[in-house]
Amino acid sequence: MERRVYLDNNATSPMDSRVLEAIQPFFLNEFGNAASIHAYGQHARAAIERARSQVADLLSAKRREIIFTCGGTEADNAAIHGVARSFAGSGGHVITSAIEHPAVLKSCQFLEQKGFRVTYLSAGEEGIVRVEDVKEALSQDTILVSIMHANNEVGTLQPIKEIARLTRQQGILFHTDAVQSVGKIPVDVHQLGVDLLSLSGHKFHGPKGVGAMYIRDSVQTVPFMLGGSHERHRRAGTENVPGIVGLGEACRLAGESHQDMESRIADLRDRFEEGLLQRLPGSVVNGRPSSRVPHTANLSFEGVEGEALLVALDFKGLAVSTGAACSSGSLEPSHVLQAMKLGRGRIQGAIRFSLSRMISEEDMDYALETVVETVSRIRSVRVG
Ligand code: PLP
Repeated sequence: MERRVYLDNNATSPMDSRVLEAIQPFFLNEFGNAASIHAYGQHARAAIERARSQVADLLSAKRREIIFTCGGTEADNAAIHGVARSFAGSGGHVITSAIEHPAVLKSCQFLEQKGFRVTYLSAGEEGIVRVEDVKEALSQDTILVSIMHANNEVGTLQPIKEIARLTRQQGILFHTDAVQSVGKIPVDVHQLGVDLLSLSGHKFHGPKGVGAMYIRDSVQTVPFMLGGSHERHRRAGTENVPGIVGLGEACRLAGESHQDMESRIADLRDRFEEGLLQRLPGSVVNGRPSSRVPHTANLSFEGVEGEALLVALDFKGLAVSTGAACSSGSLEPSHVLQAMKLGRGRIQGAIRFSLSRMISEEDMDYALETVVETVSRIRSVRVG
């Protein structure tokens, strides 16, 4: 059988078999509604609270600071709209960056339509927001700063601790979208100093459609989902018990694999990248290599269209991406690479390779040979 290698883990990742094992009973015998008083309900409630501890432990947070959501998108929306609504009428300036995920960008654009003022900071050619720019943008009426932890396209880590120091001094709330860092690198909410944080289960071998929001104990926001009294009145809707159990187990397993991600996976990524740069002249890495999550590489190949390369690699069983999954299928160039002001050719030739702890050395050897061979072939056809 033809070899298949999946290098699109920033879009979604395969579920760990141990996660699947943990959630199965909650589809079958343990199907109770966690709000019910009888034993079925109580079993579901206990499972949710166990999962809440697992998520809280991964972030060094308290259990009551974790709210379950239906994914990263809802967590981002709930954080941004929740803060904005709690401040309505007393000022409204929000600071974010131009390289955020659409879940943040579109939430901010919606706030603009409602009369809030939003500053979209640039991230420079290396895909990193400058702390000085945040400092300069802060004003009397700033209510919220929302800057992602790790960028989903180029993997760059943002200076979250430094930004948090500024917002803390001025009593301004700080949210970070940590969907691409939680589960991959250690994330400690106290060390980062953030007030709100979003995460998503399917990015680190958990189930799709489940995520969580961390809200620091002292922070009050207006609930985004209204209805029943679930999640202590902070997020209405019958809990997705199997999903939440799976998220908890994924967090537990992620905590055990940080070391592997930071050494083995980072080495595999670096070796792969070096191989490409050496063997394919005219290749360039996008984003700052020294400040990235260990599992992401984004490269442009001169003279090669990213979309054409993606399709050719797919024929060889290698799954990669040209940008964020939600914008793939559209011909719109990546808003992240555009915000980094890379040239047109570099943007059009960009490919994201995203690894996970399930990747082996043989997988990366195959990926390297396949990309070298495919890029060379496309280039020779163009020249010929
Ligand atoms: N934020 C970032 C940085 C992401 O990469 C994604 C998913 O691609 C999301 C938010 C949305 O998460 P979800 O797919 O769980 O809604």
